[in-house]
Amino acid sequence: MENPIGRRRLLAGAGAALLVGALDGCSIDTLATRRRIAPAPTLELARLRASPDRITAITVCTRPFRAQGPRLDVERVGPKTIVHNYGHGGSGWSLSWGSSTIATQKALATDERDIGVIGCGALGLTSALLLQRAGARVTIYAKDLPPNVRSSLATGLWTPDSRICLEDSATPAFKQLWEGMARQSFQTYQTLLGLPGNPVEFIDNYLVADDPRAPRRQPVAGDTRPKFAELQRELLGDLTPDAVDFGPGTHSLGARYLKRNTLMMFNLSVYARMLLSDFRTNGGQIEIKEFHSPADFASLPQRTLINATGYGARALFGDQSITPVRGQLARMIPQPGIDYGLFYKRVSFVPRRDGLVFQVVGNDEYYGFDDDTSTPNRAEAELAVNTIAELFSI
Ligand SMILES: Cc1cc2nc3c(=O)[nH]c(=O)nc-3n(C[C@H](O)[C@H](O)[C@H](O)COP(=O)(O)OP(=O)(O)OC[C@H]3O[C@@H](n4cnc5c(N)ncnc54)[C@H](O)[C@@H]3O)c2cc1C
Repeated sequence: MENPIGRRRLLAGAGAALLVGALDGCSIDTLATRRRIAPAPTLELARLRASPDRITAITVCTRPFRAQGPRLDVERVGPKTIVHNYGHGGSGWSLSWGSSTIATQKALATDERDIGVIGCGALGLTSALLLQRAGARVTIYAKDLPPNVRSSLATGLWTPDSRICLEDSATPAFKQLWEGMARQSFQTYQTLLGLPGNPVEFIDNYLVADDPRAPRRQPVAGDTRPKFAELQRELLGDLTPDAVDFGPGTHSLGARYLKRNTLMMFNLSVYARMLLSDFRTNGGQIEIKEFHSPADFASLPQRTLINATGYGARALFGDQSITPVRGQLARMIPQPGIDYGLFYKRVSFVPRRDGLVFQVVGNDEYYGFDDDTSTPNRAEAELAVNTIAELFSI
């Protein structure tokens, strides 16, 4: 059990332990209040069984990062109109409904009502469903389907500005576009709460620090690399509840400092399955097909296509502006009762119901940058798990 909100705020911060001790240890000796004051309840986080022997899989995936942000323009390839919808970095799931709304509107503006979607990841599936909702007949063409797409290897959090573009590209026009996509996605996700299997849910997430003054990121001396854009706090601050602090003595993780945020989480196995099943139920067709160049689209009957090939667009369209950003997850046996996330020493823990997720996230967004290797790194996976396990070794 945890404190009621007012009391939580009162107890927040380094002085909280002292205050709790004072209230707990004494009674106030007046006639009106001659009774002991009950000890303040602490925040009890259910004990996580984190150990390397419980790892069930180590997955590696590539984020399709573009310095200028996602590609959403329209291109003519022979008689075909191609609407691009790729390059969402570490935000593909988070922005999918908003980004695909833009792509869908552009596709429908061609007046075609028989439309092909190339790709069956986060962007392809949401594009296909939105087209169906607008009355179009849709066929998905893809080399691979979930769970064998890159989207299925994501962390599964609503992170709409994660590696979305570089700061220089975050012009007022881009910010407006991004904010629209993010808000629309956020609202759409609210309609997917409380469904069987919990494809989407909210979780509490705790940033844990040994020293509350230590910066989350260490500045790198002489670092001249361009910064990644950070937009969420500036433009979407109203969408998430305020953070709440817990000082030592007010929680079950020892002499540490906790900051609680609220995050939206995607249980991607059931979520992707639901999107696929909805698409098929609405009459959607799927054809397994690999394209080697845009000229291959000539074989398709549809004249309007949405290109949602993600990192695949780099080879298919020769788009060298896509930079791979490697990310690795260690997956672990789910544990009932673990419904909160953690962030400690640059390791993230996400309590997905379809397998717990541990991830070294590095010092900054350059972690994994320009790295398209896909070999799992067992040492990194164990480091992630052992770092989180430290929190429960008290
Ligand atoms: C480690 C990691 C963690 C992440 N965590 C998050 C997160 O928590 N939240 C979030 O919002 N985002 C996250 N992301 C980012 C997110 O996963 C991507 O932005 C998103 O998956 C991109 O989806 P997509 O549909 O564009 O591409 P993909 O999922 O790669 O789908 C592409 C589709 O196109 C098909 N295709 C590709 N090339 C061809 C071809 N030549 N011919 C035919 N078909 C083709 C593929 O088979 C596939 O069906 C994460 C990424 C990584 C790597």
